[in-house]
Amino acid sequence: MHQQKRNNSTVDFIIVGQGIAGSVLSLSLVKAGYSVCVINKSNLSVSSKIAAGIWNPVVFKRLTKSWLADELIPELLSFYHYWETEFHTTLIHQRHIIKPFTEEQEKNLWLKKSANENRFLDSILYEHLPIDPHYSVSSYSKVLQAGNLDVAHFIECTQLFLKEKHSYIEEEFDYHQLIVEPREIAYHDIKANQIIFCDGHLISKNPLFNWIPMKPAKGETLTIHSTHITLTQDIFNKGFFIMPLGNDLFKIGATYEWEELNDTPTEKGKAELIKKLNAVITSPYTVISHDAGVRPSVIDRRPVVGNHPDYKHIYIFNGLGTKAVMLAPYFAKQLVDQLQNNYNIDPEVAPDRFKNKA
Ligand SMILES: Cc1cc2nc3c(=O)[nH]c(=O)nc-3n(C[C@H](O)[C@H](O)[C@H](O)COP(=O)(O)OP(=O)(O)OC[C@H]3O[C@@H](n4cnc5c(N)ncnc54)[C@H](O)[C@@H]3O)c2cc1C
Repeated sequence: MHQQKRNNSTVDFIIVGQGIAGSVLSLSLVKAGYSVCVINKSNLSVSSKIAAGIWNPVVFKRLTKSWLADELIPELLSFYHYWETEFHTTLIHQRHIIKPFTEEQEKNLWLKKSANENRFLDSILYEHLPIDPHYSVSSYSKVLQAGNLDVAHFIECTQLFLKEKHSYIEEEFDYHQLIVEPREIAYHDIKANQIIFCDGHLISKNPLFNWIPMKPAKGETLTIHSTHITLTQDIFNKGFFIMPLGNDLFKIGATYEWEELNDTPTEKGKAELIKKLNAVITSPYTVISHDAGVRPSVIDRRPVVGNHPDYKHIYIFNGLGTKAVMLAPYFAKQLVDQLQNNYNIDPEVAPDRFKNKA
């Protein structure tokens, strides 16, 4: 049964949506002393729930650091560790990402980059890849300081915390019922000083922000069971990933598709993942589940964080694309710092970067 806590007092923030964005943001606001009322209809978009939750500070194509990796990694570790302590549970797993080398050129580039410019690349070459008795590569190395968030568990814990200690309403937010007054927001019987939209790719239905040029990408994953795969801790990556979940379960992902933007798994997506998997794993396995979701990516691949160009008390926290786990804690902190101390949010993520161009 969903708890619905409503009263007539004014909250600091209404937050619409409780995927990774809404969860990280509401926790950051609560920690900073603000009151929040989260309105979320869980099954409208399942992207966060089915995500592998991997953070990876390296762009594999060029072996460079990913955008802001040096700043994002310490922030994410501090954020998720803090909430692990508060919730008395484990949320993150720090792991390496294994990168096998099939070509000499790849290996040489890795060694050069690890020696000179990218501290997230291990400079050691390893042999005997622990994955499948029949899969052999001459050598492999590891991405350091990577890992994954157990996203579904994090969202569940956050929802429980909001229900018990704050205010959580499980219902679809009707954008047309929002009353915007000069200094206040009203939605049915809830009054708030400000509202923040964290509605993921469904921003396309949000009349206040549907002008943000999104380029959402559907993705599919498989969960398989195998007693033969010998990968126990690290994540394997070779154009797709194999991530051990424990109990002989492994998450396999992910596909990219830009046309059919819905949460329905497809035979095409499954076949693509199985083909990649079978090139590495020759031992038997069973597919346990098959999921799909839509990543809320923006056309310039940067998040969108900040207030509406025309309304100082209407905000957006979205566009986390393929890297929600890494980006959310850092940019939630920027938003809180702006609210508390009037600090500037990185102009690269400002919503008005698109309005100015219009
Ligand atoms: C297959 C796949 C694998 C991925 N793997 C990773 C990964 O390994 N690492 C990583 O960092 N990221 C990964 N991602 C990306 C990540 O999942 C997304 O960036 C993230 O989920 C976006 O979170 P969000 O909160 O912005 O949106 P969402 O997860 O879509 O959450 C939005 C929430 O708002 C609700 N909502 C929307 N509209 C309304 C409304 N009108 N009223 C009430 N509620 C509403 C939705 O139901 C949902 O609960 C992956 C994505 C996919 C699809």
